Amino acid sequence: MTEHLQAIIDSVRDHDSGELADYIDVLKHADPDKLALAMCTTDGHLYAVGDADYEFSIQSISKPFVYALALDMYGPEEVHAHVGVEPSGEAFNKLSLDDDGRPANPLINAGAITVNQLIGGPDIPVEQRSEKLRDYFSRLAGRELTVDERVLDSELDAADRNKAFAHMLREAGTISDDAHDAVASYIAQCAVLVTVKDLAVMAATLAAGGKQPVTGERVVSAEAARLAQAVMVSSGMYDASGQWMVNVGIPAKSGVAGGLIGTLPGQLGIASLSPRLNKQGNSVRGVKIFRELSSSMGLNMLSSNFFVAPGIRRIERRDDADIVELQGMINFTNAEKILRGLTKNRVYTKTSALYRRDSPNLSSGNTRT
Ligand code: GLU
Repeated sequence: MTEHLQAIIDSVRDHDSGELADYIDVLKHADPDKLALAMCTTDGHLYAVGDADYEFSIQSISKPFVYALALDMYGPEEVHAHVGVEPSGEAFNKLSLDDDGRPANPLINAGAITVNQLIGGPDIPVEQRSEKLRDYFSRLAGRELTVDERVLDSELDAADRNKAFAHMLREAGTISDDAHDAVASYIAQCAVLVTVKDLAVMAATLAAGGKQPVTGERVVSAEAARLAQAVMVSSGMYDASGQWMVNVGIPAKSGVAGGLIGTLPGQLGIASLSPRLNKQGNSVRGVKIFRELSSSMGLNMLSSNFFVAPGIRRIERRDDADIVELQGMINFTNAEKILRGLTKNRVYTKTSALYRRDSPNLSSGNTRT
């Protein structure tokens, strides 16, 4: 697993196209060469390669998680009275209000500012709401996360557009908090520091229906996790979301610090980091990594090969050989489970030919299947 993930990041390492986000001073000076990838299964196994302990700001990747929290606090009907679930077809920093004055979805900035305001209601002080969200992200990651005050201050200095959104949302009656406070608490949510390991575990929590796979804590309901992933499908990659589903087929969310998460419902959370962005604001090497992951490991959710078989049915020793009974098409998630099971049972396998790009079948190696 680790070797395969390492090979994928090595294959994109030399691509240096794209630009750092320049409207936030701290991001403009980030190290553009950082590169990391992590994957967490819904039963809590974490694999990570590259700069996997490097911390960066979560930015827009916070949005589907805060949407899930709001859904659990108020229920879908109330939340959807404030924000829609349709792709806007426009950039994240466009206002995109529908005929009822609601932002198109919770993943564009106007929608995320609106959803942020729901947490704790309009009367809660900015610091209290920010602390509530920092604590919530920490439970999702399974460790204490912090807010990067430098990112927070430098984004507040450049927040005219977000403040303009907040004023227009107030004017439309969508939020009632003071516009500057609304933006301050939204920006604090974006300035929480994470690693790709944290993000992979957070993504795996959504994929696992809201139960954090490492700590076992139910952080959000299964329904909220499902809705969050639904908007990630339609709007997670800004105005490149359609192209993303065509090429990759994984619910996803990107952020302007270069992070990118993907969820495979019931199976996996994935996260990458590479700070240079394409013109839609998505990480250039992150997009390449996910395309390669999806094709080499058979992860496309919309592919007809994509279904989950139970993995190992039975292992028995007969005539000096281990007989391993497997069932169904072996996709990536099953292969990972099977290899872990075989390792645990000390069955010797040759794993190098496990995948073929066109047909993810398990090779027989020294194990008869
Ligand atoms: N805090 C950023 C902003 O509001 C988030 C944008 C993003 O990651 O897409 O501009």
